[in-house]
Parts: sequence; C-alpha cells; structure tokens
Amino acid sequence: MAEKKTQKRFGNAERDIVALGIATAAIILFVGTGGTVLPQVVRSLYGEGSGPDDVLANALLLNIALIIFGWRRYRELTHEIKERRSAEEQARKLSEIDPLTGCLNRRSMARATEQLRTECEARGQALAYVMIDLDNFKHINDMNGHAIGDKVLVGLAEQLRDKLPQEAVLARLGGDEFAFVMAYDKNHGERIDEHVMRLFESVPQIQGAENVAVELTMSIGIASDNDDAGDTTRCDAETLMHRADIAMYHSKKNGKNRYCWFEATMENELRFRNALETGIRRGLGQAEFIPYFEQQIDLESGDLVGFEMLARWQSPQLGLVSPEIFIPIAEDIGVIGELSEQLMVQAFQEATQWDPSITLSVNISPVQLRDPWFAQKLLKLLVEHNFPSHRLEIEITESCLHENVGMVRSMIASLRNQGVKVSLDDFGTGYSSLEQLRSLPFDRLKIDRSFISELRNPDASSKIVDAIVSLGNGLDMPIVAEGIEDEGILDLLKSMGTLKGQGYLYGKPESAEKVRQRLLKAGRLVEPTSQPQIAPQPETGEEDPVKAVHALRSVVK
Ligand code: C2E
Ligand code: MG
Ligand code: MG
Repeated sequence: MAEKKTQKRFGNAERDIVALGIATAAIILFVGTGGTVLPQVVRSLYGEGSGPDDVLANALLLNIALIIFGWRRYRELTHEIKERRSAEEQARKLSEIDPLTGCLNRRSMARATEQLRTECEARGQALAYVMIDLDNFKHINDMNGHAIGDKVLVGLAEQLRDKLPQEAVLARLGGDEFAFVMAYDKNHGERIDEHVMRLFESVPQIQGAENVAVELTMSIGIASDNDDAGDTTRCDAETLMHRADIAMYHSKKNGKNRYCWFEATMENELRFRNALETGIRRGLGQAEFIPYFEQQIDLESGDLVGFEMLARWQSPQLGLVSPEIFIPIAEDIGVIGELSEQLMVQAFQEATQWDPSITLSVNISPVQLRDPWFAQKLLKLLVEHNFPSHRLEIEITESCLHENVGMVRSMIASLRNQGVKVSLDDFGTGYSSLEQLRSLPFDRLKIDRSFISELRNPDASSKIVDAIVSLGNGLDMPIVAEGIEDEGILDLLKSMGTLKGQGYLYGKPESAEKVRQRLLKAGRLVEPTSQPQIAPQPETGEEDPVKAVHALRSVVK
C-alpha cells in the first residue's frame, strides 16, 4: 500500500518534470530563435533588412506558445500534487486518529509504542504501557444514552491530556478503553504511579452534561519493559499491551477502581479463568450443574419448613465446585440465566416429591433481574413443571436494589401477585435504605451469616441482630437467620423473637438423593407418581465443595 502511494507520488513528480522540461526546452529554443529573429525584426523596422525569416518567425511563435502551455501545465500539475498530498495527509490522519476524542487509535498506538520503545532502548530508559478502562461505562450509556456517553469519553480524553505530561502518548483503543505510553527512568517507576494516582483524583470530576451526574471510576493496568531487577526484558509493543491488559483485568477482578502493575502470576490467573469459563460452558451442555439443598427450620418448634436450593458444579476435572467460584463467572460470560433455569427445573422436579408444606427457596442473581422478561420466564417454568407458585420463594440480594429499583419493584409485585414469595438475602451487607425496605414488598429478610456468627463471640453484643429483628417486626417482615452453627447461637436467637433459621447446626447442604432419604425417614415424602425425570445424582462422598481457588488451580493447569 505504502509502496503504491510512493509510486503514485513519484509518477506525479515525473509528469511534473516533463512539463517543466518542455517549458525549459521551449525557453532555450526561444532564446536561440529569438536571438536571430528579433534583430532581424528590429532591422526591418528601421528599413535595413528584408524582415525575419518566415520559418524562424513561425518557430519563435511556436516557442512562445510552448512556453505558455508548458508553464500553465506546470502550474496546474503543481497545484494538483499539492491538493493530492494534503488529501493523503488528511486520510493518513483519519486512519491514525480516533475521530471522537482526537487521540491516537489502536493501530497508530501500536506503531507509536514500538517507536518509543526503540528510542527508550537507545536512551537507556524504560517504557510503561498504561491501560485504562472505565468501570461503569455501559451503565452510563444505558442509563443516559449514547450522546452523554460520548461526552463522558471526550471529557475523559481531555482530563487525561491535561493531567499527563507532554511526552506521554495517549490513545483511545476503542469503547471506553484508553491507554498511554511513557518513557521513564528505570530506577524511578514511582513516577508512573504518581501520574496514575493523579488520574484517579481527576476522573470523578468529569461531567456528562448539564444536570447529568455521572459517577466515574476506572481500572488501570500497567506493564513495563523493565523488570524489577532493572534489566530490560525485550518485550515488544504487542506484549506490553497484552500485559497491561492482563493487569487491568486483574484490577477489575479485585474490585475495580484501582490500578496494578503486571506480574507474571497474573497471566496464569487469566489462563485459569479461561479454563473455568470453558469448563462452565461445557458443563452446561453436559448437565453438570446440580442442586444441593439446605434445610430451613422454624426455630421455635424445630420443624423443617423448607429448603434453600444451592447450586453445585459437579465438574469431571475439579470435583464438586462451590457457587462462589462459578456463579460470578457465569454472570460475567452471560450464561447465568440458562444455568439458573437448568437448576430450577431439577429443583422443581425434586420438590414435587416432597410434602407440599415444604417450601423451596432459590437464589436469583442481580444479572437475571436485569431481564425485563424474568418474571414471565419464571412463571412459565412453574406452569411447565406443575410446581405451585406459593411453594416457591426467590432470594435476591441488596445489590439488585441499586441497579434499577423501579424495574425490580414491578417484577417483585408481579411475582407476588402470582403467589411467589420474595426475600431479601444477606441483609445488612449491602446498602438498602429504610425507604427501599418500606416501599419494596419483601416477604422476609434473611440476616447475613456474618452477623449471626458474631453472636458466638462472648464480648460482641447482639445489638445488630436485635436491631434487624425489631426492624423486621416494625416492617412486618418475618426474619430468617442464616449460618446458625451451634446451640448457643440458637438459644440467643430464640430469645429475640419468632424466627426461622438455617445453618450447619441443622446440617450442611446435601444432594437431592440425601434430601429424599431424609424426608422418607420423616414420612414427609409424597408417593412419587412417576419416577423422577432426572437421574439420581452420583454421590461424591465430598461434603464440602471446593472453595479455595488455589486448590482448583492445581487441577486446571
Ligand atoms: P446464600 O444464598 O447466602 O447461601 C448460604 C450460604 O451459606 C451457602 O453457601 C451455605 O452453604 C452457607 N451456609 C449455610 N449455613 C452455614 C453455616 O452454618 N456456616 C457457614 N459457614 N456457612 C453456611 P454456598 O452454598 O457456598 O453458596 C454461596 C452463595 O452462592 C449463596 O449464598 C448464594 O448467594 C450463591 N448461590 C448459591 N446457589 C445459587 C444459585 O443457584 N444462583 C445464584 N444466583 N446464586 C447462588
Ligand atoms: Mg440465599
Ligand atoms: Mg445468604
């Protein structure tokens, strides 16, 4: 491409020279013929000669015509070349610059990085590649529209330009992803930290538009071609960018709104995460996700009143995996709806074999609640599996409430109209306001187990749990206590009021098969009219699902 361009330019220049050559030749001829013809003309005017030679006079006129033609052609071509060059320059700029923010784009950034890296090498300096990604940009776009989203990006580019030193090269790589590269003294990596800290201070001040307050945070990853020992590890621009990307991803995974430098272990982490993603997708197709059940008890009478369904992944490579590992990934990769549906279908099929007085609770992810059709889908599932809606309770967490309260409210209302109960899980760990609690029609509050386990500590007061119980009484919302592990806690809770509860004191979550055996013994299993449509789950003999990530990592290489 570049070669073609050069050829074209050269072609123009050649034509240029030909036109100039014709004009020059004409001038030389003009001087030659003019030198003979003009004295003859002058002499003939004084009556001293017979006038100019016709042939020479014609040649002279022809020369004059040629000079005029050649000159005009030369001028035209020069103008044409100028215009073409400026158009080419414009096109080159457009292909290198992001039109919205005026920063370099991904392609030109790669080139600029490589160039700066070579310069740094020659000067004995190190190069830092800093990757910046907004944390909540999709949300800003969805809530305020793309025009505001664009303004935020332009504002961000301005802030970055303003806060970064002149020598930093800034680019918008796409969407809400920015990056800059900067040379620094090998022994003073902290300079990069300082610049990055300054960005964190300035970014929240970006305005979307008048009257639109946008809350901005960003995650940053930094990679350098200079390792800790001060040696320059020869990594090219692409490797640097890849590493900064991994570091940025690490910042996101560790809670967003932070920055970190790339470390080699992060690459393994990413590989591990990719392996889990692939495993989850495959597991969905192979029906590897199964429901476990935890008993819910009326604390006063000690009667079993229901079960909470807790997801488990029976992975052929990893064994029984905890939902704390795979649910967040399933949410991230967009399969949580499908996963939850598979689990619910299995749980409904199990629960139809239990005594009809036993309820079933299922946890619903905030991601599922973003689907405006969630309530309809759930009700359709209930009808399809002939499961009475009044036996189902869904558990949502407080984080659902600050996403789109309006939509959650109408979803809760339509589910409750159909008889499904809704409880607020892990209460006390999020930010639900009293106003939200008053206006949202929950059927119960579940006190998070972190507060319940505090009761075990003899010095700790039971004030928080007490306060939540009286809040529940005041709002007319029954309370469920999670994580009851011993008799001492149970006695304390009993003294606080009429509560329901669950916890290891009553048993750990168990497989569908074990639940059936338990209910059979208690005479609370209805005669199954047909065999369960799902195959009995294989018993792994493992009580605890794998939670520790390092244990998993040793399996996923
Ligand atoms: P959760 O809904 O608050 O569930 C209670 C968790 O506490 C369960 O962990 C349970 O095993 C554990 N637990 C219960 N009693 C005790 C106790 O006495 N002591 C201790 N230390 N722990 C106790 P699990 O099964 O690992 O589930 C963790 C979380 O994963 C659940 O918290 C829930 O938020 C989520 N989850 C589980 N299944 C699903 C699902 O199907 N969908 C969604 N979206 N989330 C799920
Ligand atoms: Mg729960
Ligand atoms: Mg809970």
